[in-house]
Amino acid sequence: MDDVIIVGGSFAGLTAAMQLGRARRKVTLLDSGLPRNRFAAHSHGVLGHDGKAPGDILAAGRAELAAYPSVRIINAKAAAAGGAMDDFSITSDDGETLRARRLVLSYGITDQFPDLPGFAESWGKSVLHCPYCHGFEVGDQRLGLLYVAEFSLHMASLLLDWSRDLTLFADGKDIPAEDRDRLAARGVTIVDPKVTALENQAGQLSAIALADGRSVGLDALFAHPRNAPACTLHAQLGVDMVETPLGLATKLLERQATSVPGIYAGGDLASGMHSVPLALSSGSIAGVAAHQSMLA
Ligand SMILES: Cc1cc2nc3c(=O)[nH]c(=O)nc-3n(C[C@H](O)[C@H](O)[C@H](O)COP(=O)(O)OP(=O)(O)OC[C@H]3O[C@@H](n4cnc5c(N)ncnc54)[C@H](O)[C@@H]3O)c2cc1C
Repeated sequence: MDDVIIVGGSFAGLTAAMQLGRARRKVTLLDSGLPRNRFAAHSHGVLGHDGKAPGDILAAGRAELAAYPSVRIINAKAAAAGGAMDDFSITSDDGETLRARRLVLSYGITDQFPDLPGFAESWGKSVLHCPYCHGFEVGDQRLGLLYVAEFSLHMASLLLDWSRDLTLFADGKDIPAEDRDRLAARGVTIVDPKVTALENQAGQLSAIALADGRSVGLDALFAHPRNAPACTLHAQLGVDMVETPLGLATKLLERQATSVPGIYAGGDLASGMHSVPLALSSGSIAGVAAHQSMLA
């Protein structure tokens, strides 16, 4: 039996594995190889790695883990989970069942693209989710923001720090008059009709097509699709979840502990705020907390 099984071996999971490996604990990490930022050529805001390809950062992390003999990495998808503290089981999709005293869930989330021509092709290239991750590279360009809900109004104010040429696409939704006036006074253009397509070439946007037949020239669009946990193990294990503005996240007690004793969570699955540095941090805490929960 392992001390810990980690499900999801990207930024959060690999960091949890490193802490546990350094604590000389027996760990198996399962990973299906689909990190959320795989659509982007470069990752930003990660100290020491700014601008590197996400896959290169992860490959370096995996290579570092090879120095820790008690850590085993399996390239497989976890399909089923069960058990309780001190005897959890994880079954991979190739049928192997593993057992461990603790679990770390770090399998991330999946973005659910709207049914909008051009959106999927441009995601991570010129359709962007986070200005801290990718805003610097499109500074002072023609930026757009696709309105989703009230938090988009805050995002509109935020984006003005990256470009004064900002269009808010209401996409047929109601924006209260006082918010319109406030944003207009700051120079934001508001376009009301539904968005019908993102005109692009190989993912580089050129314009946004609207239901009234117009199109608005644009270099980059910020968008916030809803997301869902990347698999259902949390539900199989009875882990409580909470609503965030865009999807579900694990409910956390202290130090990345979930509502189920012995199960810890880190990374995007465990937060409404998503970035590589945050995943590194919460993965590290999850690994340390899982370790310290097993002291004799
Ligand atoms: C397009 C885009 C660009 C981004 N750019 C940046 C950036 O520049 N800087 C930044 O800080 N953040 C960026 N982010 C955010 C960043 O990608 C996430 O915050 C980060 O990847 C979260 O790490 P994680 O380890 O929680 O999950 P992920 O990186 O999503 O990894 C989850 C892992 O779990 C695996 N997995 C899923 N289900 C299973 C299963 N059942 N069994 C086994 N394995 C499983 C997946 O295959 C994957 O390898 C970006 C996000 C997007 C969408």
